Amino acid sequence: MSAVIEIEGMSKFYGAFQALDNINLSVEQGEVVVILGPSGSGKSTLIRCINLLEQYQDGEIRVSKQRVEAGARLASIRCEVGMVFQNFNLYPHLTVLANVALAPVRVRHMARRDAEARARVLLEKVGMAAHAHKYPSQLSGGQQQRVAIARTMAMEPQVILFDEPTSALDPEMVGEVLDVMQNLARSGVTMVVVTHEMGFARKVADRVIFMENGRIVEQNNPQAFFTAPQEPRTQAFLQAILHH
Ligand code: ADP
Repeated sequence: MSAVIEIEGMSKFYGAFQALDNINLSVEQGEVVVILGPSGSGKSTLIRCINLLEQYQDGEIRVSKQRVEAGARLASIRCEVGMVFQNFNLYPHLTVLANVALAPVRVRHMARRDAEARARVLLEKVGMAAHAHKYPSQLSGGQQQRVAIARTMAMEPQVILFDEPTSALDPEMVGEVLDVMQNLARSGVTMVVVTHEMGFARKVADRVIFMENGRIVEQNNPQAFFTAPQEPRTQAFLQAILHH
């Protein structure tokens, strides 16, 4: 097995406030890691550090053995590390097809025809091929998020980070996005997912990580994590959400 992401002794401060405290984490090729934890525990900050949307201060993050640091390699890190956001972030003035084809043309210098042909294949995979000509405003939230996932896949990143990808959706649209994510996981894409969807964590994760106060408190396979959590904090968190 080879690690796609390696994080060693990483800490992150917002001014004087320490948001992440000595994070150690390694994610293997093809692994699906789900990060759980209360609001404010540092989940989003952690994944934002992996693609340098946030800078960290101590320790080290490596993606495919390359150190993640601001400067010359920023563009290549962004190519290797895809990100799917809560609010889709599609380009409103571009069609669905153009949204998915844009980065491979701009960044990877792919011929437009080839990029569009690949975009159609990816849109098929996320069940959005019939909407290729539409604009984001003509789509539901669930449809927009599926396009955003296709757009991220178009860059063929080493790993895709998901930052609460279903939190902004109406409840009836959560399932269609989780289904697409489950298919990605099955196809071997390496994924790190911040979510509150416990069903997804149980069913799809290879490993569940629980964070609190900027630290990784506990991690385990989903079966052990949900049935026999070791730490009192994890137990309390699971009690609160599963009995809600
Ligand atoms: P989570 O994703 O688990 O809800 P976050 O990573 O968003 O947590 O936030 C972790 C902590 O860092 C919180 O206390 C939050 O208030 C703080 N924080 C997040 N972003 C910023 C920022 N840009 N400036 C200052 N503090 C921040």
